[in-house]
Amino acid sequence: MQLKTDALIIRENNRIGESDRFITALTRDRGVIHASARGARKVSSRNGSGTALLTYTTLTLTEGKSKWIVTDAKPQHVFFELRADMKKLALAQYFCELAGVLAPRDEPADACLRLLLNALSFLSGDERDPALIKAVVEQRLLLEAGYRPDLDACRACGKQDGGMFLQTLSGSVLCAEHARGEGIPLPAGAVAAWRWLLEAPAEKVFSFRLSPESLVPLEQASERFLLACLGRGFNTLDFYNTVR
Ligand SMILES: [Zn+2]
Repeated sequence: MQLKTDALIIRENNRIGESDRFITALTRDRGVIHASARGARKVSSRNGSGTALLTYTTLTLTEGKSKWIVTDAKPQHVFFELRADMKKLALAQYFCELAGVLAPRDEPADACLRLLLNALSFLSGDERDPALIKAVVEQRLLLEAGYRPDLDACRACGKQDGGMFLQTLSGSVLCAEHARGEGIPLPAGAVAAWRWLLEAPAEKVFSFRLSPESLVPLEQASERFLLACLGRGFNTLDFYNTVR
């Protein structure tokens, strides 16, 4: 079977001494796939640049026994700006690892692919704070995978306005009176922003601004909620947190 689909290369694995490249790609038509690109590391290879990490590419694939084989790779966009900035590159690699875990397999993944492409594009520029981009990517990928915190109101009394305390295990919030210091504090601005990014249409989800007083707690709570939902850590996230 042959498949032609647009994809972002989210992992590139070059084995020592071999000219083949093994990739993980987030494809529009089949979600996350693993593929080998024969001879992709040879200087003369036509598929080399189209299968490099963080390249948005049109892949032509043939189904092999256990994984796909890349027969053609035409790069559409290379995020060069990210490769030149270690902090941005580290964050981009975290987004890729997260997508590899949370994006669908064997089914269309247009929403996840667009989210990642928009995130990398905003990350390449300087108009959006990386912390904001990170929270958006984390929460939207979690949503796609079926994880959604309930931020509408305090679970105990139904209060909707003001700051809240996120309870990471239940994914719910409590007001200051009922939280009694338990949970992650979220100022009112962070609660409003988080509600927005759970509901916003895809093309607008990055379009908000937050003061540092709200953005810092939002980003930290988003990360802790994600780690609690998935019950695991990410090497790329640990690395980002050491270089940021
Ligand atoms: Zn309450």
